[in-house]
Amino acid sequence: MTDSSVFYRSRKSYPVAVRAEGVYVFDDRGQRYLDGSSGALVANIGHGRTAVADAMAAQARRLAFVHGSQFSSDVLEEYASRLAGFLKLPGFRFWAVSGGSEATESAIKLARQYHAERGDLERYRVVTRRPSYHGASLGALAASGMGARRELYTPLMNESAWPKLSKPNPELSGEADAERLRTLLEELGPQTVAAFMAEPVVGASDAALAPSPGYHARIAEICREYGVLFIADEVMSGMGRCGAPLAVQLHGPVTPDIVVLGKGLAAGYAPLAGLMASPTVHDTVMNGSGAFKHGFTYAGHPVSVAAGLSVLDTVQNENLVEAARERGTQLLAGLRTLRSRHPQVLEARGHGLLLGLILGDPATGEACAGPGLAERVALAARTRGLLTYPGTGAVDGTRGDHLLLGPPLSIRPAEIEELLAALDGALSDTGG
Ligand code: PLP
Repeated sequence: MTDSSVFYRSRKSYPVAVRAEGVYVFDDRGQRYLDGSSGALVANIGHGRTAVADAMAAQARRLAFVHGSQFSSDVLEEYASRLAGFLKLPGFRFWAVSGGSEATESAIKLARQYHAERGDLERYRVVTRRPSYHGASLGALAASGMGARRELYTPLMNESAWPKLSKPNPELSGEADAERLRTLLEELGPQTVAAFMAEPVVGASDAALAPSPGYHARIAEICREYGVLFIADEVMSGMGRCGAPLAVQLHGPVTPDIVVLGKGLAAGYAPLAGLMASPTVHDTVMNGSGAFKHGFTYAGHPVSVAAGLSVLDTVQNENLVEAARERGTQLLAGLRTLRSRHPQVLEARGHGLLLGLILGDPATGEACAGPGLAERVALAARTRGLLTYPGTGAVDGTRGDHLLLGPPLSIRPAEIEELLAALDGALSDTGG
């Protein structure tokens, strides 16, 4: 333990970052790290973009803060309309918050209020999947199917309000897989269910697991049939990360009722997250009681929104959605080569630049090969100057140890090769 005054996340040692540029982060000892996970899949346009910093500074000088109960702002008006266009969600309304957990909780509350406005007070349940991760605050954690992060708090959560559907099975057709939601809704009594919320490409809980094509379109149909709102949690998978503006649209047009966004929105330059609400959801509230009964002090903070607008300019001007697709193909091919060289790599998967490696015991095919394999690989990678995002523990049907890989969408082909070489070394260092 150091004599620092900082309350660190854990006892392990943390390098002290002092600057970052492009895909690299530098610490106070001059070590350079290739940001192979964009932090936690956040830094979508890379580090050190002066245009974003300038836009934030100009906004702070012009208008740093107004409260959402008193004002909208010109920057928020422009951003909301640009975002709806980029995401191909015409008529959707943007509700801004500061982080992903606030955003998923806002979506849950909005779904509940939507039904209440229609006089339907029985719909209190939110169905999610196991495993899943929707955030760390208590409501978002209750919605999450991630035992390891929830178990300390279970007495605070009414489990009957948060039923869980099992994870997607990519060996089934998307349609057959999605039909399992119908079965669960029938068991629960669909009249008790407000919403179904899922990550279109799974993030922290199950390394880039994605269902077969057709899954989301059928999920949207089933939800419509039962009057249940479909919430796509795209905090990690959205904003181009998976090679499409939204991962839910990877295999064709699908329109959820609510889309939750975070991380890549302002790409780490400022805290910014939010939700996009369909015209029906928005109008039901506004034509009913007239107000969403919810709000955070910093919602729609002009400096964060200015960062978001400048990040969106960069994503569009530099064609970063297309870049995510191309570089993702390159990186996934390289990860599959690593799987053939390192027996502890059981699977490489994902879409665009949201990719995952499943690690485990080659003899049994079990994904948990002893404590902390993913942590050990991540540490070896860090020693070699590569940052990754490890996840551990075969709980809730996850495949145990995994590494998420998701460099900035602006990464260059040669930097992908550098990432793969460092990971190759780290896998050799840790046993195979
Ligand atoms: N939803 C998803 C899909 C996430 O991946 C995360 C964070 O990893 C969250 C919600 C919570 O976001 P935040 O950590 O910004 O609160």
